[in-house]
Amino acid sequence: MLLAADKLRLIVTGKCNLDCFYCHNEGQAKEDTFMRLDDLRRIADAVITTDTTISEVTISGGEPFLHPQLETIVAIAAGRCDRVTLVSNGVLAEPDRVRALARAGLRKLRLGVDSLDSTKPRPSPGRLGKPFAVGSVLASARTAGIGVDLNVVLTKFNRKQIAPLVRFAVDHAVSIKFFEHVAVSTFGAGGAGGSMTAVPHVSLDEFIGQARAVLGPDAAFAPVEPFGEANLSHLVGTVEIRYCRYLCTYGLCWLTGTRIDPQRYVYNCMTNRGLDRLAADAKVEELARVVERASARPCEARTIRTSHP
Ligand code: SF4
Repeated sequence: MLLAADKLRLIVTGKCNLDCFYCHNEGQAKEDTFMRLDDLRRIADAVITTDTTISEVTISGGEPFLHPQLETIVAIAAGRCDRVTLVSNGVLAEPDRVRALARAGLRKLRLGVDSLDSTKPRPSPGRLGKPFAVGSVLASARTAGIGVDLNVVLTKFNRKQIAPLVRFAVDHAVSIKFFEHVAVSTFGAGGAGGSMTAVPHVSLDEFIGQARAVLGPDAAFAPVEPFGEANLSHLVGTVEIRYCRYLCTYGLCWLTGTRIDPQRYVYNCMTNRGLDRLAADAKVEELARVVERASARPCEARTIRTSHP
């Protein structure tokens, strides 16, 4: 069974504990949907039966920590792939839950933190009732044997946070990716494609200027293969500081892998959601056929880059 870029992305819920203004929710509507273990087990069986190569399983949402069976999901994924990664805002990442995920086979946590402000780490309405310390989550994950990377969406909200976040990354030896802002017009559902457009709030020049305040005036950002100009990176030892452009603009969205969501939609690009769906009782052969069709679709993004920073 062929997957886009040999990667599988399990979107385990449409629900989140935050409400960031730019949220694309991996193409889903914001609903209280949760991946069913039965569906996941059928997908896992198909992976075995068809001898599918998977280089990475990424578990995302919504906020995956809201899924009551997250540890089981990680264990099933880890039984098929030794590189299991979780994308989370980290607010619900209590140390005991992090340890349980490590025991289940989680290897990496991609922590979405747009600001070091402890009660406002994301551009979600209001402030957190309980302070969120990214350093504490980092420490508990590492103690449990889980690697951590940071993800940051660059917007007007956090344009003054670039230097502090780069400083944090270097000081804590954690790699960090900065993503340009993407505006969502519609989400895909029921056979209609979604629509998203790259609308950068922070130019590449502004980003590099702030990063150089920490990294030094000669810090250079070079293209990263296989992303080319879509990803520009600077290394400080083993710590990577990366600027990521919206992949649809470059026709490279498929590099993030084949997504399967709680409503059994299968898509290689967020704007293709709604075009392919697994039947609730799909047998291995049918399931593999739908996954392969979705994995090979061209990007349907209606994207126009309004400005190229
Ligand atoms: S934390 Fe992530 S999933 Fe939740 S609202 Fe923000 S961007 Fe969306």
